[in-house]
Amino acid sequence: MPDLILDGEVFTPGSPGYDAIRRPVNAAYREVRPRLVLLCRSVSDVVRALAYATATGERIAPRGGGHCFAGRSSTDGIVLDLSGLDGVSVADERVATIGAGARLGQVYAALHTCGRTLPAGCGPTVGITGLTLGGGIGLLGRMHGLTCDRLVGAQVVLPGGSVVDCDHDREPDLFWALRGAGGGQFGVVTSLRFDTVPEPMTTRIEAHWSDIAFDELVSAWQAWAPQAPDELTVNLTVESEPSAPVRATLFGAATFDEEPTRSLLQELIDRAGVAPTIDVRGGLPYHHLKDTFADPRELPERALRIRSEFFSRAMSHRTLASLLAQLDGPETVGRRQLTFTAMGGAYNRVAEDATAFAHRKERFLLEHIADATDPWVDRSWAAAHADGSGHVYPNFPDPALEDWARGYHAGNYSRLAAVKNAYDPYRFFDFPQAI
Ligand SMILES: Cc1cc2nc3c(=O)[nH]c(=O)nc-3n(C[C@H](O)[C@H](O)[C@H](O)COP(=O)(O)OP(=O)(O)OC[C@H]3O[C@@H](n4cnc5c(N)ncnc54)[C@H](O)[C@@H]3O)c2cc1C
Repeated sequence: MPDLILDGEVFTPGSPGYDAIRRPVNAAYREVRPRLVLLCRSVSDVVRALAYATATGERIAPRGGGHCFAGRSSTDGIVLDLSGLDGVSVADERVATIGAGARLGQVYAALHTCGRTLPAGCGPTVGITGLTLGGGIGLLGRMHGLTCDRLVGAQVVLPGGSVVDCDHDREPDLFWALRGAGGGQFGVVTSLRFDTVPEPMTTRIEAHWSDIAFDELVSAWQAWAPQAPDELTVNLTVESEPSAPVRATLFGAATFDEEPTRSLLQELIDRAGVAPTIDVRGGLPYHHLKDTFADPRELPERALRIRSEFFSRAMSHRTLASLLAQLDGPETVGRRQLTFTAMGGAYNRVAEDATAFAHRKERFLLEHIADATDPWVDRSWAAAHADGSGHVYPNFPDPALEDWARGYHAGNYSRLAAVKNAYDPYRFFDFPQAI
């Protein structure tokens, strides 16, 4: 058995700090008690941790931000906590090297000081690595693509303990697979290199409707938002709660000034036929705009369940009517949310096989979010699935998915299986629905 001496720290049940560090952000997996949590502060720590796990035969789960909806960064074996590797540096005013344990809030703040940013997600505590490995959808994505589309290289510790740098020229198959297959599949990423983009000034958009005919609004959004100019992303949430009217919130960002943004939004409002209360505010650096949005998934005290699917065309009126009828059913027990995220734009200008992320023809993503015990999630997902593309975002893993290989990876699955065989032939990294 190798010694376990780390530059970082080792936490065991009962040791000071164990309870704080063992818990992932996702409340559904807070009771899982790992035998060890290894807080890594160097690449050598990761190598030592993998050697130790190999010798003991225990399952090891890498953890960045700890947000995985399927609990894949939790285990009763060894949690490899990478939060001690969270440096961000920028070279040549453009290429950022980011430690695998950094979270989005840190990344945006550090890049902002250099006038740069990344098209990445919203939640400030979401890990940059988990997000990037599964794709990375955000408010600048229709203009600049997925977070993984900006990845130019990564350092990875492989199951046997070797440390490799991968990019377009070195270990190209691994580099291809890291861009969209989902986290924890091939090795432990220790750092990521990104080609950043200039941080834009943005206009913040928020609008609210309540007590209206929501099918008109959702139809209008489906026809309009996925093909709006790339500079504008607006997402729509429709939510219900017991004893409250159903309400809808439009939230998003434009890299246009305030006036052109208002004119564009008027097109959507005219199509929907009902005016909202609306707040459009220009002149915000992107980094500040992100801080002004509360994420509907960021409710740490509630165990949430999320199911989702991509759509390559607008829903039929029949499907939409059934979806909305269920949202506001008489047996509503807690808050239920349908969140529509606009795709199109730069997301769709990359070939399906250019990276592991296969979902390049989709118009929007729909999430069904409720308390973990609410059976509505399955009913609502099934109602929408009638018109869905059958494709599912790897960053929203769904244990209930039947054909998960096609759902997450579509036509890229066989190449991913070959990469898995080459880099992790003994399935050192394994979990339900692993490649
Ligand atoms: C509040 C909230 C907001 C979100 N917002 C967005 C959004 O705006 N856009 C979007 O696209 N997605 C969003 N997501 C989904 C998010 O992208 C995924 O949950 C993602 O997997 C989270 O990564 P993490 O590092 O925080 O989670 P973790 O649970 O730490 O990791 C996720 C997966 O990656 C693996 N992993 C982590 N680090 C490494 C590593 N260094 N090497 C190898 N594997 C690793 C883990 O083992 C696990 O399988 C959101 C989720 C939440 C909960």
